Amino acid sequence: MQILITVGFCVFGILTGLTIGFLLFRKKDSNIATFGELLPIDDEREEHRAPSFSLLLNQLLSIYRTMMNAEGVVYLRKCGDGLEAIAASPGTDFSSSPISLTDGLYGIVVSEEKEVIAEVVQPQALKHLKNITDPYSILYYPVLRRGEVLGIIAAHRNSSLPFSEKDALSIKRAARFLDEMEIFSARERKLEYLRMRWEKTEYGIKEMLREKDPTDMAGAIVRTLADILPLKQAFVVIQSSLYNYGSLVTHGFPPPDLDTLEPDTWVYWLFTHPEDFVFLSREVVNDTKMAILFSKEKFNDDNIVLLQKLKSGNNTLGVAGMIGSIKEPFSEEDKAAAQLFLKEASALLELALLNISLQELAVKDALTTLYNKRYFVERFRQEFLRSQRTTEPVSLMMIDIDHFKNINDTYGHPAGDAVLKEIALRLKTHVREMDILSRYGGEEFTVILPSCKLQDAFDIGERIRKEVASKPVTVNRIAIPVTVSIGISSYPETSSSERQLLQSADDALLHQAKKGGRNRVALAKKK
Ligand code: GH3
Ligand code: MG
Ligand code: MG
Repeated sequence: MQILITVGFCVFGILTGLTIGFLLFRKKDSNIATFGELLPIDDEREEHRAPSFSLLLNQLLSIYRTMMNAEGVVYLRKCGDGLEAIAASPGTDFSSSPISLTDGLYGIVVSEEKEVIAEVVQPQALKHLKNITDPYSILYYPVLRRGEVLGIIAAHRNSSLPFSEKDALSIKRAARFLDEMEIFSARERKLEYLRMRWEKTEYGIKEMLREKDPTDMAGAIVRTLADILPLKQAFVVIQSSLYNYGSLVTHGFPPPDLDTLEPDTWVYWLFTHPEDFVFLSREVVNDTKMAILFSKEKFNDDNIVLLQKLKSGNNTLGVAGMIGSIKEPFSEEDKAAAQLFLKEASALLELALLNISLQELAVKDALTTLYNKRYFVERFRQEFLRSQRTTEPVSLMMIDIDHFKNINDTYGHPAGDAVLKEIALRLKTHVREMDILSRYGGEEFTVILPSCKLQDAFDIGERIRKEVASKPVTVNRIAIPVTVSIGISSYPETSSSERQLLQSADDALLHQAKKGGRNRVALAKKK
């Protein structure tokens, strides 16, 4: 019998080893698959698949049934405040209805934490067995871990063959096995959970790779966080002065209407401090009276919040907020998983931000951040064609700073640059949202005004002219008076081709506005 037990231990040990090995290296298998010749064929791999916990359990119960010459051996596991039969040796019909922890002989095993041997136990007392009519001899043995009952191994046989102390001794070994198997099974479940989390993380990264836009990427980040952590809500704030980009994406609550971060919030705090993350609970939030994301929000006392910086190298790109519940606090593993994912996600996010800023660089003027001439030419053609197609008008405005050379000569070139920047800003705030404002050359600007007639364009032009002339531009505390001259043409009112439209705006600027004394708006002649 000793040999049988030893063999049992060995088989279990090998199977355990194989299963854990399988789970740990399963991930790698899929990578190895690219090296075809290293992979065993699928059928062989199947053989290495470890048996499940329940299969091992059945085998164990079967071995002990034979050893003790029992009619059946059943394992009842403790579930909440009851016992539930979950497995039996082959041929034993068991009932999985819960049995009270205080019920009869079962109750004695649980409360005394030792075996119970009894003869002629009536069928109605044998609640874990189904379809029986005769009384049985029984041996119930507790499965214990650190003084706590995990379950009961219940053996039964003909009532004329009572169990002995010797039988109790061998079932004791089965109980120890079962405890080991329970530990193993818990580990297996944990590994499975980690594997699932890893897969979800990988999926999140793939989802990010499919996106180009940083805000869409932030969407993939919040969805993945909600997938891999026990979260109620999540958000990602992207705020990067380096890449001149800001956005906010939320998960589980509507995004607040924010233009910039509010200084009295934890998100802002993290942006302005060297810490990489901050963990917030009711106590901290109430003590500091500081909101998480925006000042008007209400902190739910049951919430816990993990704010993690999105960093790539030394660049802070944003902050991810994870909001969970105190009922299911984040474990250290949860935090590590989030941090690992966010580290990879930040690198991808930076690539997207870089890409966008490179694209912007190609169409924008560095000094004024307005569109450049190349972009203007392209858009001008598109807008003209659209106008032809739709019979909606389109107007063109050419703006030139008056006597700009004098400004350079009087105040210096850098002051001239500062004036250009300030005028660009004033133009930006005085054109319509849909207008396309570009720096055409040195101190010349153009505005394409889609769906705008000549007279409406004139009104906008006048607004701009007055805005520039009304207050001087202050550079190094010196007030520099600046005026602009503007020429405007319109399709189809003044010009019938793209080239004419450009030419007539330029003519109006030079021959009317400039010649007429500057600081004025001139319209191209109607056809
Ligand atoms: P007008 O009223 O006839 O337009 O006179 P103006 O002096 O504005 O015109 P002009 O074309 O004679 O001079 C334009 C000046 O703009 C000359 C050039 O040195 C200056 N300029 C062009 N680009 C820049 C720039 O990026 N920065 C600065 N500071 N000056 C520039
Ligand atoms: Mg000029
Ligand atoms: Mg000029």
